[in-house]
Amino acid sequence: MNPDLSPATKGNILLVDDLPENLQLLSDLLIKLGYTVRSVTSGRMALKTVKVKRPDVIFLDVKMPEMDGYQVCQTIKADQEFRNIPIIFISALNDVFDKVKAFESGGVDYITKPFQVEEVVARLESQLTIKRQQRLLEEEIIKRKEAEEVLYQSRALLSSILNSSLDGIAAMQAVREPSSGEIRDFRCLVVNPILAKAFERTREDMIGKLIIKKLLNRVQPELFYRFVRTVETGESLEQDIYYPSIEPRWYHFVAVKLGDGFAITIRDITARKKTELALQDANQQLQQLANLDGLTKVANRRCFDARLQQEWQALIRQQRPLTLIMFDLDGFKAYNDYYGHLAGDDCLFRVAQAVYQSTRHLDLRRPIDLVARYGGEEFVVLLSKTNLEAGVQVAQRIQQAIYRLAIPHIKSEVKEMVTVSLGIASMIPTLEVQSDQLIELADQALYSAKKQGRDCYCIKN
Ligand code: GH3
Ligand code: MG
Ligand code: MG
Repeated sequence: MNPDLSPATKGNILLVDDLPENLQLLSDLLIKLGYTVRSVTSGRMALKTVKVKRPDVIFLDVKMPEMDGYQVCQTIKADQEFRNIPIIFISALNDVFDKVKAFESGGVDYITKPFQVEEVVARLESQLTIKRQQRLLEEEIIKRKEAEEVLYQSRALLSSILNSSLDGIAAMQAVREPSSGEIRDFRCLVVNPILAKAFERTREDMIGKLIIKKLLNRVQPELFYRFVRTVETGESLEQDIYYPSIEPRWYHFVAVKLGDGFAITIRDITARKKTELALQDANQQLQQLANLDGLTKVANRRCFDARLQQEWQALIRQQRPLTLIMFDLDGFKAYNDYYGHLAGDDCLFRVAQAVYQSTRHLDLRRPIDLVARYGGEEFVVLLSKTNLEAGVQVAQRIQQAIYRLAIPHIKSEVKEMVTVSLGIASMIPTLEVQSDQLIELADQALYSAKKQGRDCYCIKN
């Protein structure tokens, strides 16, 4: 690059002429016009001065003893560092001046003695202007090269990020309907290998193509409209998606508006999802196990207590009745003693299941009744939003279901088969009363049924 033109002055000029009076004239003239001027009287001195401080323009006399102007010019032009300094030859009218030689040796212009001020200034200024423009051009070229370098670096960085990322990355551009301006589809501008693989495509299959709508149709058609929304509103979008294929996968993605389109990153979360699902499944099984009675496979006491609490609270608000049937196998101790404990277990299982089946109903208006083992050979049936009358009907159905089982019990004091005694209680829950009250009433009713001779039901409310 050329060093700057001297900024403080209009230009730094070197005058070379063997006749000092010539120099004086030109020098005075230029200084008066605001130029900085150095004058030397020989070619040798000129070459030295150029090295001390580089001039912007050299005025060089053609005819000098020892080293003439052509030689000085050639020497300067041969030097890589100074060859760009414009040289204007000075000739006298009566000199033999070889213009061709002057230009060939590297001169850019010439002036003729005696000088005409306007001409000298005009020729000098035109050289300085050329130099200034050259300098601006060079600066511009440097800036462009720097910008190109930055661009190249950022492209290289982007490409290395895209290729090494463990997440899928893509940039999409909206393709709009010319008439309405509505987004018709998206064109892939950038797609990295991971994202292409997620869609079971190659990058070449995707880049520049309008295939997003088609691809999303396979996954979740409404996603397309969510992406449109992101572009139109600038709101980012983040969610999990299921990608169906031979090896189904789950992805988590984030889409953000980018120009008239969006950028998206996706992460494969299949492993995490599988763990989550397995955990959910295990939890459900555990929940069931925790709520189920091991022997009879109906709900256990724990489950009943929780459900009773829950229904009690709900029905306080709704002011609807809650009915509880509590029943107990008649003479079961004798059954165990005679048929053995294992047969006793089996009997409990069959009774519980028969009762469970008899309480299944298809009436969608009524909640599902809960059958639970309360303890030993005692069971409860909790009937939500059910009044006493309906409770009695359920109790009768239970009784019938056990008759149908017809499990022999020759040691029974009631019938020669297994029977139950039932107590029924019904309440509309209130804040003042605890749910234990309902159990207490049902227990009292059951006690009454036992006292009345068993194989029957009693009511308490
Ligand atoms: P009642 O007619 O008054 O009901 O007399 P009961 O003999 O049925 O009642 P009691 O409370 O005197 O006896 C209950 C019996 O139930 C005693 C116990 O061995 C038996 N039992 C409790 N739980 C189980 C069980 O899980 N398996 C078996 N096989 N028997 C059980
Ligand atoms: Mg009993
Ligand atoms: Mg008992």
